[in-house]
Order: sequence, then structure tokens, then C-alpha cells
Amino acid sequence: MSRTEAETGRVVVVGSANADLVLQVHHRPAPGETVLAGTSTTTPGGKGANQAVAAARMGGRATFVGCVGRDGHARLLQSSMHEAGVDLAGVAVVDAPTGHAVIVITPDGENSIIVTPGANSSLDADAVDRSAARWTGDDVVVAQLEIPMETVTRAARRAAQVGARFVLNAAPAAAVAPEVLALCDPLVVNEDEAGVIVAHAGVDLGANLEGIKATAAALTALGARSAVVTLGPEGALVASAAGVEHIPAPRVRAVDTTGAGDGFVGALAARLSRGDSLSDAARVAAAFASAAVTRLGAQSAYVEESALEAVLS
Ligand code: ADP
Repeated sequence: MSRTEAETGRVVVVGSANADLVLQVHHRPAPGETVLAGTSTTTPGGKGANQAVAAARMGGRATFVGCVGRDGHARLLQSSMHEAGVDLAGVAVVDAPTGHAVIVITPDGENSIIVTPGANSSLDADAVDRSAARWTGDDVVVAQLEIPMETVTRAARRAAQVGARFVLNAAPAAAVAPEVLALCDPLVVNEDEAGVIVAHAGVDLGANLEGIKATAAALTALGARSAVVTLGPEGALVASAAGVEHIPAPRVRAVDTTGAGDGFVGALAARLSRGDSLSDAARVAAAFASAAVTRLGAQSAYVEESALEAVLS
């Protein structure tokens, strides 16, 4: 059952903000090769900022806790989040360049990404404490791994202290400490990231669908309260004490998959903050992310909740 507007908790995203330099190329350069890009654009991105914008577009009361520099990239990021309706009171301006990413997109819609964290490295545990003074048990706190791990750990602990739901998107792929894993409800990862976490725990479950289902179940066996493994065009798996459920994604023509996973996480958090079950939230998140891959960019590809059906029809 969804909550009314007055009952809705906030989606507090503790995370990264990056300016994305997006280069469209015919093919990825091989070692030693130079290729010419067809077009180049600079767009607002970063996993945290993307997730905050996605949550806001899906009707969530989104707040962003992060760091930017004193430069044009910071203004680009702040205005994009502000226009989407994200609360920016938790954004600190620091003496480091705003994080940025170089994204290479090939005609099949796949991307390769290099991130330079810059100001994101300055997001410390104190910033979490300042924001957490206002968190309540209705809030959903979301973090990813483009910021220092101790900041992520503090976010998980502070969420637990107030009874807020903690969602960790363990991306880019890294091992997650058992203490943090035990607070994830859910842990959200793509197939590769899921593989890194279970491999770190010494488990090898194979790459076919049965293996991936076993991997999703292994994430909860390793301690996560629940887990979601996103599967690109195949949607997602939701793993909980009740078992593993496959949530299919709508069939679409992929144009640009940049920010698809972030869109999924932001939409998921927005729906969880409104009282949806994890399965229901994942179904909406898969639809939202699939709509996003039909359009260019990350934040610019996220549609308003009211436009979702029209984009997918
Ligand atoms: P990431 O971007 O983190 O690697 P995925 O590729 O698993 O994440 O995609 C996340 C979500 O985006 C999927 O669950 C799905 O809903 C949507 N998605 C991604 N690629 C496609 C695609 N080619 N067609 C339809 N939906 C897609």
C-alpha cells in the first residue's frame, strides 16, 4: 500500500556528483589506437546525483549529500539537481575540482567509463552526521561506492540508529564489509558487481541464469537483508528470505545505457519511501530504467513518473 504525500519519507542520497564528458565513437580505441569521436557533450552525472534526480523524477522527496568544487561543473550539477527538485542543503563546496567522468559510447548503446573522483573524495563521515541529525525512521538512505568507504559505513550506521531503510548500490564493484552488508535492505548490484562480492567471499556460482539466481541468493546468505541484481535487458532478480524472484524489464530499443543502473536505484528508493514492497518497487524501477535507455544521457534520460507509460508504449 502506498503512503500519502504527508506520510512519505525522504530519499537521502549520500554520494557522488560528476560532470560526464560523453564521447560517441564508432568503436572503442584498442591499446595504442586513436579514434575520432562523432559528438562530445558535457552532462550532469555521478551515481549519487543521478540517483537523487531519478528519485525526484519518480515523485520521491530527494535530498543529496555530497561535495562539489568551485567550478563550472559544480554549477551544472547543482542546477540539474535543483531543477529536478532535489534538496541541496547537504552539498558542500570544497577546494578540489568537481568529480568528472569520461564516457565512451559505441553504436550498440554500451559504454566504457573512467571516473576521476575529485571533490567526491572530500565527502567525509562528518557530512553524514550533519545530515543524519534530520533523518527519521520513514527515510530511505541510499549510498554507492564512488565516495570514501568510511562515509558509506557511517551512512549505514546512522540510518540504522534512526530506523531508516538503508539501500547500498555497491558500484563501482568492491567488496562490502559484513557490518555494512548486514544493514542493506536491499543491496543493489549488477551481475558483475554481484560476482565480485560473492567471489570475495570465496563463492563461485557460474554465469548462467541459474548461477545468477544462486548468486542473488548468496548475497542474502552472506548477510544482506535483501538484494537486487540488475540484469540489463533481462530486468532484475529480487532476493529475500522468501526466495529469488525474476522481475522482467519492458522490451525497448537501447540507445544509451549510461545511468540505467542509477535510474533503477533512484526509482527503487522513491517507491520504497512511498511504502511499496521491494518486488513492486523493483518492477517500477525496471520500467523507469528501461525507459531511460531509450534516450541519450543519464539525468536527461530520466522521465517524470507521469510520462513513464507513454515512453514505454
Ligand atoms: P548497470 O547500468 O548498473 O550495469 P543494468 O545494465 O543491469 O545496470 O541495467 C539496470 C536496469 O536498466 C535493468 O534492470 C533494466 O531495467 C534497464 N536496462 C538496462 N539495459 C537495458 C536494455 N538494453 N533494455 C531494456 N532495459 C534495460
